[in-house]
Amino acid sequence: MQNVNAIDFAYRSYHTKVTPAYENKLDDSVCVNCGQCLLACPVNAIYEKDDTKDVLKALKTKKHVVVQTAPAVRASLGEEFDLPAGTLVTGKMVSSLRKIGFKKIFDTQFGADLTITEEAAELIERLKENKNLPMITSCCPGWIKYIEHFYPELLKHVSTCKSPHDMFGAIAKSYYQNKYKINKKDLVVVSIMPCTAKKFEIQRKEMKKEVDYVLTTRELARLIKSKKINFNKLKDEEFDTPLGLSSGAGTIFGASGGVMEAALRTAYETATGKKLEMLEFNQIRGMSDFKEGSIVINNKTINFAVVNGLGNAREILEQIKNKKCKYDFIEVMACPGGCIAGGGQPKPTNKEIVQKRMNAIYLNDKNKKIRKSHENPAIIQLYKEFLGRPLSKKAHKLLHTSYIKRGT
Ligand code: SF4
Repeated sequence: MQNVNAIDFAYRSYHTKVTPAYENKLDDSVCVNCGQCLLACPVNAIYEKDDTKDVLKALKTKKHVVVQTAPAVRASLGEEFDLPAGTLVTGKMVSSLRKIGFKKIFDTQFGADLTITEEAAELIERLKENKNLPMITSCCPGWIKYIEHFYPELLKHVSTCKSPHDMFGAIAKSYYQNKYKINKKDLVVVSIMPCTAKKFEIQRKEMKKEVDYVLTTRELARLIKSKKINFNKLKDEEFDTPLGLSSGAGTIFGASGGVMEAALRTAYETATGKKLEMLEFNQIRGMSDFKEGSIVINNKTINFAVVNGLGNAREILEQIKNKKCKYDFIEVMACPGGCIAGGGQPKPTNKEIVQKRMNAIYLNDKNKKIRKSHENPAIIQLYKEFLGRPLSKKAHKLLHTSYIKRGT
């Protein structure tokens, strides 16, 4: 599926098994942890490492345990409780997390707005300096591990921005912790993600344990069921402030093309000082493997492309390698359709269901009062009180990262 070939069939007849080469550990293979094999496995033999017990243990202590939820989770969690695919359950999800015992319920969409503010500034800077173009998005840890293994010579093209949930973790363990005078040792950050690769990402040494645990959408559903919470009867509740405030741009991160659209909304307006007439970039929405478009910013035409699925990413990486790439900015997501089809999402995850989740996400954006990351008042306040400006020294230290070359 992903052109990675981390696992394959070995041996013959009834000795056949699915394994990495030479029966090595998956950890030592080129596996990118996207979890697509897990969604495809017909006998449910592949599953994520379950971290629910550790989270429950942390909740039983006196620690200040906060949780953040990714955009794609609210568009799929309902399926675990027999609601039709595409039902947005944001309010019930928040309510269930409060019942489970988290101190504060925050939103990864706040982290997505922060990512966009930094990434749009980075793009404008690279365009001005004509340096390391095309710039490629960095919020998908499956994609990052892929390029680290297979095309490390092209790593300079990848944005240095951390992914939204890690940016959130960095801000929680600095700004939030200081502002609310929480003891450093007492703050625990849990991420609810549609993604299995995020479990690997938080273990990277570059991420400095800013997020303590990652649970998938399926693990959250199991947690809710284990607490005997009647999910469908829950009343809608709101996220906590300030790290629970987000824009529509933060919402669409969950779908392929969403990161690009959110970044273009902010890059255009911050670089030109003008308002975008049309916020929707329909040419990069939808389920196609490959989408493209262009926009004029300060008299310069910026060509952009969106790919999902790592096999498709390989084609565009070959173009860059052979100096035949016509794009300035590229979004890559490992999962087909983006995070709404992530390896941590409810089963089944098929094209029809993914389309319904995608529709829910775009509807959510349309109905939001604020639809641009740089207009999120909590982001504006964060820069005013703490970070200074996008790409400042402090922002670089907390919100940006580096990558490593891995073998194949
Ligand atoms: Fe995780 Fe989303 Fe990347 Fe899939 S596309 S690996 S869900 S970040």
